[in-house]
Amino acid sequence: MTRRIKLGVLGGTFNPLHMGHLIIAQEAYLRLRLDKVIFVPAATPPHKPQEDLLDAMHRYRMVALTLRNDPRFVASDMEIKRSGKSYTVDTLEELRKKYGPRAEIYLIVGSDTLDEFPTWKDFPRIAQISQIVVVVRPGHSLERIDDLKAILGEDKVEEIKGLMLKDPLISISASDIRRRVARGESIRYLVPRTVERYIKKHRLYSYGKRQKGLML
Ligand code: ATP
Repeated sequence: MTRRIKLGVLGGTFNPLHMGHLIIAQEAYLRLRLDKVIFVPAATPPHKPQEDLLDAMHRYRMVALTLRNDPRFVASDMEIKRSGKSYTVDTLEELRKKYGPRAEIYLIVGSDTLDEFPTWKDFPRIAQISQIVVVVRPGHSLERIDDLKAILGEDKVEEIKGLMLKDPLISISASDIRRRVARGESIRYLVPRTVERYIKKHRLYSYGKRQKGLML
């Protein structure tokens, strides 16, 4: 009998990858006893403002470079290869096809995503293919989770509540990292060394333009 495979999926813009992403992936990996967590950088996210979005290849490379030494995690370029708007439902369908019906797919999302769910393409299908793991994010209330009952039904929402990861709370965000880089402030300890070096090497996020001191 083939063993069930338990896959975590962490989608996002990763603009750039930061310690918050790695910590939540690790929490999900440990608590849900996952076999792997797949990080999937979006090519063109349907829900994020585009102005300061770095080219997808840069974002993907920062993720891939960082994860290559951790066998628990893997970077996927499936959304970048697919091009066009990156819909989570398409990614999950692709993974379901690849790994078959025996795979348990856990979609890992921060709680800031809760309010957006009703606007996601084929959200009920997403909840059918995967089990949704909401990671609580500071400053993002969980009040509206019950609103999802109208779309998913009571049982599914109770299941989501049961899978929720409530700690540790991490207030790191990619937008704060970008602001810090543009101001020439250190981002050490907020992002992995690989990401710090990559940003410096490619002078990303206005690196150096407004820099007063040494960042690294
Ligand atoms: P930005 O600040 O640009 O909006 P972000 O920090 O939210 O970016 P994303 O790449 O959009 O980073 O995040 C990918 C996924 O990881 C999303 O589901 C997001 O909610 C979640 N996430 C990111 N940072 C955290 C965090 N500190 N705690 C919990 N979840 C997080």
